[in-house]
Amino acid sequence: MAEKKPAAPKAENKPQGGQVIALTAEKCVAEGCKSKPEKAQFCKEHFAWFKEGLLTLEGKKAKDFDKKYHAWLRRKAA
Ligand SMILES: [Zn+2]
Repeated sequence: MAEKKPAAPKAENKPQGGQVIALTAEKCVAEGCKSKPEKAQFCKEHFAWFKEGLLTLEGKKAKDFDKKYHAWLRRKAA
């Protein structure tokens, strides 16, 4: 199979109203969180998670979330 990819870039206009990533989100971007964002696009708690590296900027859990989360809980309790 010889596939030829067009060299010219596609000049398509994406329709508005789809997924728009706004700088000021209406709710915390962490998965399943419905709190209002207080810092960046995170609520207070999830911003702390983000600072600890538990969450990515997109609100997804870090790869080693479990490990970091437990270490964080231990530090918080101390
Ligand atoms: Zn949150």
